[in-house]
Amino acid sequence: RITLDDVTKRFGDDGDAVVAVDDVSLDIADGEFVVFVGPSGSGKSTLMRTVAGLETQSEGDVYIGDTLVNQLGPRARDIAMVFQNYALYPNMTVEENMSFGLKMSTDLSKSEIADQVASAAEMMGIGKLLDNKPGELSGGQQQRVALGRAIVRDPNVFLMDEPLSNLDAKLRASMRTEINRLQNELGVTTLYVTHDQTEAMTMGDRLVVLNFGELQQVGTPLECFYRPANRFVAGFIGSPS
Ligand code: ATP
Ligand code: MG
Repeated sequence: RITLDDVTKRFGDDGDAVVAVDDVSLDIADGEFVVFVGPSGSGKSTLMRTVAGLETQSEGDVYIGDTLVNQLGPRARDIAMVFQNYALYPNMTVEENMSFGLKMSTDLSKSEIADQVASAAEMMGIGKLLDNKPGELSGGQQQRVALGRAIVRDPNVFLMDEPLSNLDAKLRASMRTEINRLQNELGVTTLYVTHDQTEAMTMGDRLVVLNFGELQQVGTPLECFYRPANRFVAGFIGSPS
């Protein structure tokens, strides 16, 4: 469970600060899949980074489970992030990419790490690619590696910030299904940012609509579509963004 309590994030000096996230309160249940949408600059990535501990909020509290994590760094939060550009290490093999985080943050033995990497790779269908370098893989395969690297640590929370936006339409469609399958199977609480209307309407249990850092509506995709809370939501959902 993740709780955001009046979270505000400002960048810059008081006088001309940008309010990237404006007084956001939100409760996300264990195992829930929540999709975040909003125009460019509406604070989606900043909100993800704040939950991950990569940014410190200016005001408000973030809880993961019952733990107030305001003071905890990213490592201690038990969260795995997947970004738009994958951020794989180009000079490491797939196996090294997937095991790196485990080596850094756990006391697992070499063979335990190898086992966990192998089972995550199996799950993502990249078991045969472990010795390859990212540059030798297709976009979709690289995306699988990024997802495999996220699940190998068995996190409590996934944060995904436009993870499919670099893929072509066909691959995006199949990865969509795959992410949903994976999330179901693992039961991991997932926060997912997208610009894609189909992803917004089909992937999540709930949709969160942001504008200028403020929550506009939180509801099921159908609620947001058929009963928009305001003009902004009505205009944003259902029209290509
Ligand atoms: P996009 O859809 O384009 O990815 P977004 O919804 O993810 O947009 P953010 O990246 O969260 O938006 O940015 C929200 C606001 O905060 C923007 O006005 C942006 O310029 C500002 N901002 C984000 N990061 C910083 C930073 N490190 N320093 C200053 N301003 C920032
Ligand atoms: Mg963003």
